[in-house]
Amino acid sequence: MNYTRVRIYTESDKLEPVSLMLHEKGILGVEIQEPQLYFDLLNKNNPYDWDYIDDSMKELAKVSPNLTFYIEDTPEGIELLDEILGELCAFSVEKVEVSGVSDEDWNNKWKEFFKPTRITERIVIKPSWEDYEKKQDELVIEIDPGLAFGTGTHPTTVMCVKLLEKYIDKGRSTVFDVGCGSGVLIIASALLGAKKVFGVDIDPLAVSVAEENILRNRLDGDIRLFVGDLAKGIETRADIVVANLSADLVVMLSKDIRKNLKENGVFIVSGIIIEKKDEVRDALIKSRFKILDILEDDEWCAMAAAL
Ligand code: SAM
Repeated sequence: MNYTRVRIYTESDKLEPVSLMLHEKGILGVEIQEPQLYFDLLNKNNPYDWDYIDDSMKELAKVSPNLTFYIEDTPEGIELLDEILGELCAFSVEKVEVSGVSDEDWNNKWKEFFKPTRITERIVIKPSWEDYEKKQDELVIEIDPGLAFGTGTHPTTVMCVKLLEKYIDKGRSTVFDVGCGSGVLIIASALLGAKKVFGVDIDPLAVSVAEENILRNRLDGDIRLFVGDLAKGIETRADIVVANLSADLVVMLSKDIRKNLKENGVFIVSGIIIEKKDEVRDALIKSRFKILDILEDDEWCAMAAAL
């Protein structure tokens, strides 16, 4: 697939409001270049003493304030771009550059921004192309999401990992991941002690990316992957079902996921935008689940529920 790169040049004080508008339109990865950051570093009143300034920071001094993001080169992507360009009238925008980007450029571009990241007290996500020295007691997930969803750092994933940390224990050691993407929740479950983990995704590409990531992490235990639609055709029961999908898919799944849960099982759901929190909670209660936890992070929410 090809992508369109959009760069918006605007005044420094408009960077934040434009970025907020893009966020509201569903554009999550926005790169902001603000030259003032470099001049602030050089300011002698700066409380920090910089021995070394990276060359990329020096480059920053030469650019005008701008925001860059990428949109899929599809009819839907072009429609969204049209909508965004319309919204820009409300801001003082100096120039908008739009250029095509090939898959290959895009694949390398986003990697520059994905660095080792601690997502919980114990768990660190390490991109496979970065070095990272593991510290004692840390659990390191090595990942290359490729074109599948799942760097592991998205708030919806982080909340699932926090709930897996809470509920995986000796009594609950089998996990079923519905919508496994790049496999990050499968790997997290195995590292947290799950003995048997199985995952499904509707996208065959995601399943093959997950397979590669599972091998990369040299995990113990019984791990299986399937291509499929939600839990259809899967009868195996787990102590924990985790589903980072969307509010609508979670509501659909909650209707018959009991067949995949063992006694004392826990159903962890995420990918729910905050506006749909009540709808999802009510659907879980209607399906006779008892709500155990509700986590919120920015505009997202996740829940854990018991049978
Ligand atoms: N679990 C991963 C994570 O947390 O990083 C990926 C989550 S991503 C938000 C949702 C995943 O669900 C995608 O990989 C998508 O292909 C998959 N998916 C969407 N609809 C599905 C369905 N009906 N059945 C199975 N998987 C689905």
